[in-house]
Amino acid sequence: MMNNDDRVVFFDIDGTLLDTTAFAETARKAAIGLMVDNGLPLDKDEAYGVLKTIIREKGSNYGKHFNVLTQVVLGHEDPMLVALGMITYHNVKIALLRPYAETIDTLIYLKSQGYRLAVISNGITIKQWEKLVRLNVYSFFDAVITSEEVGKKKPDKLIYDVALRKMKGNPEKSVMIGNKFKEDALGAVNAGLSAILVNSDITEEDRDYIKKEKLDITIIGNIGDVKTVL
Ligand SMILES: [Mg+2]
Repeated sequence: MMNNDDRVVFFDIDGTLLDTTAFAETARKAAIGLMVDNGLPLDKDEAYGVLKTIIREKGSNYGKHFNVLTQVVLGHEDPMLVALGMITYHNVKIALLRPYAETIDTLIYLKSQGYRLAVISNGITIKQWEKLVRLNVYSFFDAVITSEEVGKKKPDKLIYDVALRKMKGNPEKSVMIGNKFKEDALGAVNAGLSAILVNSDITEEDRDYIKKEKLDITIIGNIGDVKTVL
């Protein structure tokens, strides 16, 4: 009997399983709106600009953007405004959090084909599980491997090696599905897996590079098209 236990499909989350288009911006603007309405002394566009600079400097996984915003604007932290910002941001984000239309069908299809599923993500482990739980897809996944756990981010080969080892996957039979050319596709191929790019903003130059180097990267429009490839 053929042993298929070593076939693993690894997924990225943001922009791949989870439709993140504009939700962070909408949530941040709602948070800023309430902070300004409650005394943050800037107009809303200015305050949003300052917040964006802070996010760029500290990274999107930093947990205290609103604390820094009040420090920068007021010269001291304002706990009430920080709480308003944080809670509004989270509430709006949760309200808008949704999988792509065909995400769940695709996960069911892959399981029916005998693949085991896992996530490889640049981010914080509990936060990534939190997204899978909120999307109600957590039970499809055997593991979530993150840069927090491994100490290296995609596209570093180490995170792919750790993920394969953890899942006992055969790289030649395993696939990475993600939306970023460098992090998800090149990283995976470099670790010996094949890759599928979805929802990607891949450039003509990148496409030429894939052809020239004969890389095992398939480009599809949306996650529902995985069925036509696997
Ligand atoms: Mg992504």
